[in-house]
Amino acid sequence: MELNKSLENSASSGGRYFNTGNGPTIQLIDIGHPVYVAIVDPDTAFWSLLKKEKISEALDNSSSLMHEFHKKRDSFAQEMEILRFGLKPSAVYFNPTERCNLNCSYCYIPEDMRRNGGQMSPHELIQALGILKEYFRGVVPEGRLPQVVFHGSEPMLARDAVFAGIEEYKDDFIFGIQTNGTLLDDESISFLTTHGTGIGLSLDGHEKSVADLTRKNWAGEGFFRKNITILEKLNGYPNYNVICTVTTQNMGFLSEIVGFLHKLEVPVGMLNPVRCTRQGARDIKPMDSDLSVHYLNALDRTFELYQETGRRLVIANFANVLVSIVAPLARRLMCDISPCGGGRCFFAVGARGDLFPCSEFVGVREFNGGNLFRDDISNILETEAFRSVTGRQVEDIMPCSACAVRHFCGSPCPAEAYEMNGGMNRTGAFCELYEEQVRYAMRLIADGKENAFLWDGWDSGTSTTLEVFSL
Ligand code: SF4
Ligand code: SF4
Repeated sequence: MELNKSLENSASSGGRYFNTGNGPTIQLIDIGHPVYVAIVDPDTAFWSLLKKEKISEALDNSSSLMHEFHKKRDSFAQEMEILRFGLKPSAVYFNPTERCNLNCSYCYIPEDMRRNGGQMSPHELIQALGILKEYFRGVVPEGRLPQVVFHGSEPMLARDAVFAGIEEYKDDFIFGIQTNGTLLDDESISFLTTHGTGIGLSLDGHEKSVADLTRKNWAGEGFFRKNITILEKLNGYPNYNVICTVTTQNMGFLSEIVGFLHKLEVPVGMLNPVRCTRQGARDIKPMDSDLSVHYLNALDRTFELYQETGRRLVIANFANVLVSIVAPLARRLMCDISPCGGGRCFFAVGARGDLFPCSEFVGVREFNGGNLFRDDISNILETEAFRSVTGRQVEDIMPCSACAVRHFCGSPCPAEAYEMNGGMNRTGAFCELYEEQVRYAMRLIADGKENAFLWDGWDSGTSTTLEVFSL
């Protein structure tokens, strides 16, 4: 594999010294720890924690750290290159319907689509999954199954089609469903759990007065109590999670929300900052600086709860930032790398068979790459609609191009950059939140606490490529 062109040039420098000539750029980061600081080579995402009094010794070009780093830098760069530019899609966000029975404040799907949109029949959905199966046969390594996540609008409105698809292709895909929960009854919970389907439930609060502020139907009614009943029924099922969208409405309650989910024995939660692609979301967008404080307090709370009970509540979106540092190649979600996972690790299918790089772009005509009933999927992935997302690199964005944590953050999200900030090569809605998460993650590592924040088996299949203990 050829290295990214930005890593090649014609200067005669042998690259022996960091920060000059062809040498690596090593940036120092204050992580807010009493004993340690971090150094990072942003191009390769190599990093190390250093005791403050050992900085100059460690950065001496003849130190064991520098010696090992110089030896391994090319392989680090190559791994980063493969992760960023060498992956093929292995998952699909499948929107079987454009309609939704809710009208949440921050929804990114246009209102007209949610009220009057199209919906796939069971026959069409089965046909679409057959086409996807054929496509993935050629790109997913043998022994691995591609993933299909039924996604919103509200996929349970197309329940018959979704369940028929899961039944028909149960041996060909790993299935998941992201739902608002309002249409889940005992029969559907039984179907989904006996088929091992991943279930993601949206819930924005720990009590009705908070949760129902943002998530409500067209008549303004919320569904907090219904969702709690579902979570109680799912208790013990290993494959479900709760997505909490964080806005100004619930930001101040994140620690309580975390405590509430932990009490319900939810294994995995996400505290996703609201996606600011539409005005309704931007109206309740928290300031980074405020959100960061509440967010990190909530992470602290998950650690306290783990210490008190021995049971983890993994906050998956933070866990992925943490994994991006401890084992960059083991990341799962793909918003925190550039180019992001949209169109590269997965793509989205709309209810009429149209393909978009990510669900965030469903309904935006410029990002419709083609239709899987008519066009070849491999060709769709090469269209300008996809390339504008898969070609978005953090190196082309200010101030990200000079940011030490750019490969732990990735400057998400292109949909926000485009809709909110006026272009793909702009930052997304949040920056300081990522800076603070990376610092927090490094403090956890310095204190040996990182495993309390990660899912079981996160490190299976990863290997340690450089360990220097003497610093
Ligand atoms: S968004 Fe902020 S933290 Fe992320 S890469 Fe850009 S400058 Fe760095
Ligand atoms: S950064 Fe945005 S477009 Fe990319 S995968 Fe995440 S949500 Fe989708």
